[in-house]
Amino acid sequence: MARYIFVIGGVMSGIGKGIATASIGKILQSKGFKVTGIKVDPYVNVDAGTMNPIEHGEVFVTQDGVECDQDIGNYERFYDINLTTTNYITTGRVYQSVINRERNLEYGGRCVEVVPDIPNEAISRIKKAGKEADADFVLTEIGGTVGEYQNQIFLEAARMLNLKQPGKVMFILITFLPIPGSLGEMKTKPTQQAVKWVNMAGIQPSIIIARSREPLDEPRKQKISTFCNVTKHDVISAPDAKSIYEVPINFEEDNLGNRILKLFGIKGRKSNLDDWAGLVNIIEKKKKTVKIGMVGKYFETGTFTLMDSYISVIESIKHGAWHFEREPEIQWLSAEKYEKDEKNLEELKEFDGIIVPGGFGGRGSEGKIKAIQFCRENKIPYFGLCLGLQMAVIEFARNVCGIKDANSAEFNPDGENNVIDIMPEQKALIHEKRYGATMRLGEYNCRLKKGTIAYKAYEKEMMSERHRHRYEVNDKYRKTLEEKGLVISGINPKRDLVEIIELKDHPFFLGTQFHPEFKTRPLKPQPLFREFIRACIEK
Ligand code: GLN
Repeated sequence: MARYIFVIGGVMSGIGKGIATASIGKILQSKGFKVTGIKVDPYVNVDAGTMNPIEHGEVFVTQDGVECDQDIGNYERFYDINLTTTNYITTGRVYQSVINRERNLEYGGRCVEVVPDIPNEAISRIKKAGKEADADFVLTEIGGTVGEYQNQIFLEAARMLNLKQPGKVMFILITFLPIPGSLGEMKTKPTQQAVKWVNMAGIQPSIIIARSREPLDEPRKQKISTFCNVTKHDVISAPDAKSIYEVPINFEEDNLGNRILKLFGIKGRKSNLDDWAGLVNIIEKKKKTVKIGMVGKYFETGTFTLMDSYISVIESIKHGAWHFEREPEIQWLSAEKYEKDEKNLEELKEFDGIIVPGGFGGRGSEGKIKAIQFCRENKIPYFGLCLGLQMAVIEFARNVCGIKDANSAEFNPDGENNVIDIMPEQKALIHEKRYGATMRLGEYNCRLKKGTIAYKAYEKEMMSERHRHRYEVNDKYRKTLEEKGLVISGINPKRDLVEIIELKDHPFFLGTQFHPEFKTRPLKPQPLFREFIRACIEK
């Protein structure tokens, strides 16, 4: 029978609740248990697909095509499993299904109420995810922080589940301990406040994970124990880590895994994080770098937000680089500066490889095309992800095939020569303003052509990768592109769509219509990223 662990955030957000949840699951998994992860996002949006990535972070895509929070990506990477629609809960999703059911008379004509019907729907989703994964432990991260109006209903769900299944539910609170510069001393008061807030929701945490710049000392642990009603052993020190992959190891130093088991009445077991520790060793070792430039349409925001919007791409680069014991150095290059002055393109020579990641809208597209042309002509390894493939095809059509006005229907709907075009079904959806969850989403099969970079990377003919886009390579131009030397190395067998393009006589020039970054794993880098990094190093 599954056990349920709810991870709840104290009075501050952005303290690594997702990584904490991923790490707790990782530890239990390393003790031989089956785990799954659920992310609860309290906003009314049905999914993350319609949200601005600059505000919300990356839109991660599951194999079954759900556009969700980036934490689902963290869980997949930490647990090395694939999650589905059941693992992602939002207020919008919960209300939508309750309302649909009400409309279908499935509540038998009774009054449908926020409590208990909404929490009950959340509970049934949490249980379903556990069943689907046949999990021993279901970890649910409740987004937001305690005391917020928005996530109350999910705390209520957690409380109700605990009432129904006593002994099978645990609450872990993750809080932040500030060290005010003026005092130089770690303060526990916000943690005490946070516990009061969850208490008001009828919840008592069994374990408190104390995030801070420094490790927690004994007096601090004692204080939290006394005031927050947990034993001293259940106050886990979680100092800032150099890398997220270090966090499970840090938690285990405070024996977190066996504390959880003990509280559930399960005998302690040894954890096996050897592989993981090996990776952390590589990460922390001083090593040569590999320098990657990411050309995109960026905003005046700092690097931080951008890193969040492209977290899976960054993780994929890291996993690829660590595989070769290199440290990636990633730099953000604004495409617009190449539009303003082509001389700026020269800076691309300083990089071992260039990526144009996914994106929407035309701003910066001409600069991206210029950057890609520069990489093609100067034999700089180039890797295009989704939009990055589309831009590469436009560049090739213009500068190699001589189709001077080649473009994408996304930026130039009435263009004569849209080598990137919209599928008729997508056109209809946009016309009807049906934007939510209507892109080509989720995993699709792809057949690889023997003797290509792609085939060499995957070492098999059929594979599948995840998509999130509306536009495709226009069939009408395929013959011309191929005659001029563009290799179409991956095809969707069912619909004969172009999925991968590449060039010969170039150290690495490849674009994918899918997003390979969604399937990377720290110890199993995504094959195309791995090969891209290999080419960057060999260059
Ligand atoms: N904007 C492009 C499309 O919709 C590319 C999308 C992407 O890069 N994810 O097809």
